[in-house]
Amino acid sequence: MITAVNRPAALHINVAAIKENTRQAKAHLKPGQKLFCVVKANAYGHGAVKLAPVMEKAGADGFCVAMLDEGLELRRAQVVKPILVLGLQPASEAALAAANDISLPVSSLDWLKEAEAVLRREGLQLKIHMAIDSGMGRIGFSEDEDFEAVNEYLKGNDAFFVEGMFTHFASADSSDSSYFDYQVKRFEHMKSLLTVKPKWIHVDNTAASLFDKDVASDIVRFGIGLYGLNPSSAPGSQDLAPAFPLQPAMSFVSELTYVKQIHKGYGVGYGSTHIAEEDEWIGTVPVGYADGWIRKFQGFKVKVGDVYCPIVGRVCMDQFMVLLPEEMPAGSRVELISDDPDAPNSLRRAADWLDTIHYEVACQFNDRLDRIYD
Ligand code: PLP
Repeated sequence: MITAVNRPAALHINVAAIKENTRQAKAHLKPGQKLFCVVKANAYGHGAVKLAPVMEKAGADGFCVAMLDEGLELRRAQVVKPILVLGLQPASEAALAAANDISLPVSSLDWLKEAEAVLRREGLQLKIHMAIDSGMGRIGFSEDEDFEAVNEYLKGNDAFFVEGMFTHFASADSSDSSYFDYQVKRFEHMKSLLTVKPKWIHVDNTAASLFDKDVASDIVRFGIGLYGLNPSSAPGSQDLAPAFPLQPAMSFVSELTYVKQIHKGYGVGYGSTHIAEEDEWIGTVPVGYADGWIRKFQGFKVKVGDVYCPIVGRVCMDQFMVLLPEEMPAGSRVELISDDPDAPNSLRRAADWLDTIHYEVACQFNDRLDRIYD
C-alpha cells in the first residue's frame, strides 16, 4: 500500500508524549524490574521503527512484538536491545529468529522438538520464553504434565536458552480482581513445577503496572500506556486511575477539500442516508474507510475549525461529508481525532462511538495515511 503524502490528511504523533510516557513507565517500575516496550502492530498504529529509538532513549530495556517479521523490522532499523515475540511462530522459523537474536515463546513440546532439529542443522541457539496459559485461554502450557515434560526436555539442552517464563492477564484492567487473583494463583502453581530456571519471569502488562497490582514480574510488558491511553476502557466503564498521568500521542488532522450549500430534500452520500431538512452547508473531507475511517463513524462529530460537526451520509471509501453550521472556507482544518483525552473526539470517545476499545481504533488506521512525527 502506498502512503498518500500528497493530500491534506495525516496522523500526527507527538514524540514528546511518547518519550514522557516511556520515561514515567520506567520511573514507576519496582526495584529490579525491566521495561519492555510493546511495539507490535506498528506500535499500535503509531509507527514502530520511528518510535523504538525514542523509547530506547527514554529507558526501554527491550521490546515486544507480536510476530517475527515485526522483530526483524526492528533489527533492520538497528534496534539492538532484546526483542521478544509474543505470538507463536512456526518452528521452522526458529533459526531465523536465533540468527537475529530474537526470542520466541514456546507452548508445546512438539514445537521444541521441531525447532531443535532446525537449530541443530544451523548450529544456532534460540532464546525462548515458556508461555503459561493461566486463564487467558490463548497460548501457553496449562497442564502440569505438559509443562513438566518440557522442563525435563530443556534440562541441559543447549539448543535453547531459557530466557523467560510468562503469562498474560485477561482482566488486569478491571476493578474486580477475582479473575486476576485466580490467574496469579495458577501461574504461581506452574512456577512451582519449574526445574529449569528462566532468567526472567514476567506477567505485567500496562494495566498490572499502572494499577499497582501486587504481583512479582521481572519485566513489565508495557504497551497501551506508552501511547498515552488508559487500558481501563471497556465502553461505558468507569476508568481506573493510572499511577501517573498519560499523554495521548495520536491526533488525526485533515481539512475541508470542498464546501457547498445543498437545499431541502437533497441527499448526501451512498444510499442518501442524510436528506437535508432545510438549506445546509456540507463540507467534504478526503478520508474514508480505505484509511481505516470506517462507515460506523457516520454521526460522530469531528472538529472543523472550532466547531464539532457531525458526519452526515455514509463514509465513502476515500471521503466523508460533515454538516457545517454555516459556510466555512475550503481548506478549513478538520481534526478527526484529538490528542486531548478530554475532547469529544479523543481516541477513547471514538472507540466509545464505535463500541470498541481505543487499541482497535489506533490499529485500524492503515498505511495509506501518512504519519507525521511532531
Ligand atoms: N503482553 C502480551 C502477551 C500482550 O498480548 C500484550 C498486548 O496485547 C501486552 C503484553 C501489552 O498489553 P497492554 O497494551 O495492555 O499493555
